[in-house]
Amino acid sequence: TTLRSQLAMMQCDLSGRVAVVTGGASGIGRAAARLLARHGAKVFVGDLRLLDENAEEFADLEIVQRECDVRSEASIAQLIDGAVAEAGQLDILVNNAGIGMVKQITDVTEDDWAACIDTNLKGPFFGCKHAVRHMQVGGGGVIINTASNAGLLPRAHDPVYSISKMALVAMTKSLALCHARDRIRVNCVCPGPVGDTRMMDDDLDLATDRNAAVEQMISASPLAAAHQRMETSEEIAQAILYLVSDAAAMVTGTSIAIDGGKSQGVPPHA
Ligand code: NAD
Repeated sequence: TTLRSQLAMMQCDLSGRVAVVTGGASGIGRAAARLLARHGAKVFVGDLRLLDENAEEFADLEIVQRECDVRSEASIAQLIDGAVAEAGQLDILVNNAGIGMVKQITDVTEDDWAACIDTNLKGPFFGCKHAVRHMQVGGGGVIINTASNAGLLPRAHDPVYSISKMALVAMTKSLALCHARDRIRVNCVCPGPVGDTRMMDDDLDLATDRNAAVEQMISASPLAAAHQRMETSEEIAQAILYLVSDAAAMVTGTSIAIDGGKSQGVPPHA
């Protein structure tokens, strides 16, 4: 390796850091958990459903898996406190667990509202609360929230989801201001359509014509259209790695869109 790539590696070296990743059993969370662990972090994954398929790889990377429901403050506190009890500190929290809600307002029930807002917004909020407690004691830390392009430019097909993600972006900016003095950085990633996720699979399962739905999803994201593919979980994880690393020591309150330009506006007709 060249000196330049060695330097780049050093800035992303997470040895000795302790990370908690919610929604880490699948998709973007799993890719982030793996990447942080490969860069030396001790990673604790919390998820509603732990998957057997992850057992071997997670064991190899010494990733610890715990059941957790981010909709409950007690459950997220238990995940975070448990990681600190086991590893001695908390340096990184990735608030990534989330669900979609493709419904017009006239069809949205109180339970739909609670499911989406509690998972996508309340979970990250209370995750931050308990992470901040430990990070204040430890002298600093980094929090990443997985928002969405819907958090930058709301969409017509999923108002409750758009509300949850726009509020998550607002929360990111607010907490970044509140806790800069604690040397806690708070940032978010805003993915576009990510192909290798359960969320996308579930979405496409609802479509009458799956191929047409994929085509429509790709064409709404200018770079995805140019490359004729969706974004990958790995591409989102790479942005998370940058944001948690020392290379981003002065970066806080930002949203990095990894959405192929989708949140810039309406793309031109092909
Ligand atoms: P995914 O469904 O593959 O992963 C989400 C994970 O979160 C799952 O393992 C699920 O079990 C877990 N989860 C759901 N509810 C939970 C709860 N209450 N407590 C704990 N864990 C819970 O989907 P993904 O795309 O990897 O989703 C990760 C994040 O990315 C979400 O916040 C989502 O809104 C966001 N996102 C996804 C896309 C996309 O195209 N897939 C685009 C933009 C943003």
